[in-house]
Amino acid sequence: MIVSIHVDELILETVTSININMISTQTKIGIVGAGTTGLYLAILLKNRGFDVSLFERAPQPRVDGCGILMIARGLQALSIYDKKLSDEIIQAGVKVNTYEFRNLKGEIAFSNSAAEAEAKNGFPAVVVHRKDITEALLRRVSSENLYFDHSLESVESNNSKVIARFRNGQFWEGDLLIGTDGLNSKVRNFVQSDIQPSYLGDIVWRGIAPDNYMFSEGDFVVYIRARGVYANAFNIGQNRCHWGFFVECEQPEDEKGLHSPRNTQIPLEELAKLPDTIRQTIEMTPQENIVCRYSYDINPIQRIVVNRVIILGDAAHAKSPSRAQGMSSGLEDAVEFVNYLTLSATIDEALTTFEKDRLPILHELQRTSREISQTTGRTKKLQTV
Ligand SMILES: Cc1cc2nc3c(=O)[nH]c(=O)nc-3n(C[C@H](O)[C@H](O)[C@H](O)COP(=O)(O)OP(=O)(O)OC[C@H]3O[C@@H](n4cnc5c(N)ncnc54)[C@H](O)[C@@H]3O)c2cc1C
Repeated sequence: MIVSIHVDELILETVTSININMISTQTKIGIVGAGTTGLYLAILLKNRGFDVSLFERAPQPRVDGCGILMIARGLQALSIYDKKLSDEIIQAGVKVNTYEFRNLKGEIAFSNSAAEAEAKNGFPAVVVHRKDITEALLRRVSSENLYFDHSLESVESNNSKVIARFRNGQFWEGDLLIGTDGLNSKVRNFVQSDIQPSYLGDIVWRGIAPDNYMFSEGDFVVYIRARGVYANAFNIGQNRCHWGFFVECEQPEDEKGLHSPRNTQIPLEELAKLPDTIRQTIEMTPQENIVCRYSYDINPIQRIVVNRVIILGDAAHAKSPSRAQGMSSGLEDAVEFVNYLTLSATIDEALTTFEKDRLPILHELQRTSREISQTTGRTKKLQTV
């Protein structure tokens, strides 16, 4: 029987005491997608001695992106590998002291201290540039296990083997394939072909502005959704301020499923709804520091395993960013799945029990994240999960 264990010492104790019928470390494991979920999985699996290959479609490490809020559970998941890793992320970012909720006049509606949660969790929440997280993970992945320019085309699997074929003509054959290839996962098409990203009703612009001293370090500021807009802003240190601006918008018929709208200009009439502090921060951001995309999640899916293939991270449970659970839940998937592999007698047992135990937790995160998007001041209701 598998128990979900979160502390590495406990796993080692349990492994030592059971120590029967373990899955062989000769097991060949392929991972598709070197985002944070895939990178962390590769580190943990390699650390357990498995034969791991990580395939990424990009030609080089992807260190793009903006700031994110990493909640305590994400740091806790990283500390399972090595406390130095979670400490590095804390050092690279800024610890959140206060969550401050403002209305569109800029007045503080309410604020919550982060101190109690930090004391309870044993880890802070931090705001940090995504690049700093990716780089910290990349430093721990051996280059001989990492294959760039490998865009997955197709997967074949029976109950003992799996073959992954790539656009560059290469293929990989092994015992287990893990899809961590994000929202538009190709591996997911193999596992469950009828799941498409579901539009959340917003276009989101995100950017990194030079710090204008309008947002103090340690404050996570949210402009509560009203009149069809919503925003957040936080200082990620080193003279950088991250902001996100969400605008409710119908998706035109011919843009359904697109990553970004064709017109990526921020509508001035929407920007004008924001108070000066955040509006000026957005206005002073260099164009090259701004990214624009449609916001999507996916509906909870009933299976994440088929034969010797499993999907994890956003590929399995992309969710609305409203609870900032996305990256952390992918890192937790990695920790939990490696626990199941380490403690199971067979790969099939690990896959089956992990799926059964983990899916209800993930579905709950997806449901609550979408519910918040749906209920906080939105002018147009979203489809329910
Ligand atoms: C607007 C917004 C704000 C967010 N804010 C936060 C936040 O504050 N806090 C938080 O925790 N989370 C946040 N998230 C969510 C978070 O970004 C994701 O949950 C997280 O990055 C998922 O990581 P992943 O590794 O599972 O997937 P991804 O990061 O999407 O990585 C997938 C990887 O797979 C590769 N890939 C894709 N297709 C293929 C293929 N065919 N072959 C090979 N490789 C492939 C991609 O190039 C990529 O490197 C936010 C998301 C959005 C959209």
